Amino acid sequence: AGTERTDSQRIAAGGIDADRIEAGRRAYELDRAHVFHSWQAQGPFDPMTIVDAAGPYVWDGEGRKLLDMSSQLVNTNIGHQHPGVVAAIQEQAGKLCTIAPQHVNDARSEAARLIAERTPGDLDHVFFTNGGADANEHAIRMARLHTGRTKVLSAYRSYHGGTQLAVNVTGDPRRFANDYSAEGIVHFMPAYPYRSYFNSTSEDEETQRALAHLEDMITLEGPGNIAALILETVPGTAGIYAPPAGYLAGVRELTAKYGIVFIADEVMAGFGRTGAWFAGDHWDVTPDLITFAKGVNSGYVPLGGVAISEAIFETFRDRAYPGGLTYSGHPLACAAAVATITAMETEGMVANADRLGEDIIGPGLREIAERHPSVGDVRGMGCFWAVELVKNRTTKEPLAAYGGSSPEMNEVIAALKAEGVLPFANFNRIHVVPPLNTPDDDVRFGLAALDRALEVADRYV
Ligand code: PLP
Repeated sequence: AGTERTDSQRIAAGGIDADRIEAGRRAYELDRAHVFHSWQAQGPFDPMTIVDAAGPYVWDGEGRKLLDMSSQLVNTNIGHQHPGVVAAIQEQAGKLCTIAPQHVNDARSEAARLIAERTPGDLDHVFFTNGGADANEHAIRMARLHTGRTKVLSAYRSYHGGTQLAVNVTGDPRRFANDYSAEGIVHFMPAYPYRSYFNSTSEDEETQRALAHLEDMITLEGPGNIAALILETVPGTAGIYAPPAGYLAGVRELTAKYGIVFIADEVMAGFGRTGAWFAGDHWDVTPDLITFAKGVNSGYVPLGGVAISEAIFETFRDRAYPGGLTYSGHPLACAAAVATITAMETEGMVANADRLGEDIIGPGLREIAERHPSVGDVRGMGCFWAVELVKNRTTKEPLAAYGGSSPEMNEVIAALKAEGVLPFANFNRIHVVPPLNTPDDDVRFGLAALDRALEVADRYV
């Protein structure tokens, strides 16, 4: 099934029409007058207009083509305007746009089946949400009700969403303004080999020390009080730092030992991003709950959810679950999920992400690191990579302080845009997170652009 994408095709063939540019200008004016943007000081914020998108590319308000190396907020795992998914949404809209969550709907049932078949172990029941933050909120609620305990452990240098509880479990500075309702939430130090909190000199040592620290935290907080431990399998926004070997298995062991529900947040890392359906698959770890969103339908229609193990499902077999959402399992979102997962499967995108990471992105970034003294660390897997920029490789002084931006980083980002690449940048990091089906040559184009843009960063070393 395909949908004609005349605009995108026209653009790809030779440029944007003047009327599109004009519509973009009008949109910009209205945006400035009426749209209140997330996470921004509204005054100085100068948003980029996007007038069209196709595959791994977007076109800005001037009609310039940019490689979307950000996958937006790391969600367009299958790229923009995938014809099969667009057609599925249109078809579902023609059949049934919306239905309350208490009714059965074929798109929802089919999406739940496809998700349950891909989650590990016995996580065979799916509670749908509208995105990642509410998935985490509900996972924590389920864990508290299941255990009868209240405390939640979560890692520093993490991101779990912008709603109240999700931002409180988040371990980055965005939670500071919201800390007033953080009751019962305790943060621990994650395993982070590049900037080890445990003075480790090897990955193995980092694993051992980070796990010892975690067990101390559990003991000191009182295992009988701790409902859940929430952890990004591969932390994303906080720096795409995959756990060292043995760490996730150790977390699984500790949580099982103390009867704590292990919630794996796969909102960013899930649905193929790391070259596996779920990032935890790389280490054969089965948590009790998995939260997902973003890649489940590439963000074409808002959707998230919680995949639930049999034991936690049993808690609610004869006891009402006190929570729900008007749009839980929305048909348009679920139809998009069915089409997305099907396209990922039939077009081999998960394996392709793995290959891109192994053969092109990883080797390419390592080469770049050799050439540029401003690169402190490159790390990642699949289509999920971070380049950490520093002023000094020995001291690891970052190009922007933790929690902020810097004129130097802004210059690097501007240089990348000038090279035709839209990056995902956070603090002192550039994230290389293209769609999983980005053609090899376009990935190489993105890496070459990054290579040139990093000359700007080298000046500050
Ligand atoms: N969890 C993780 C790991 C995320 O990366 C994000 C968003 O970036 C969220 C949760 C929140 O998801 P949403 O913005 O859909 O609420």
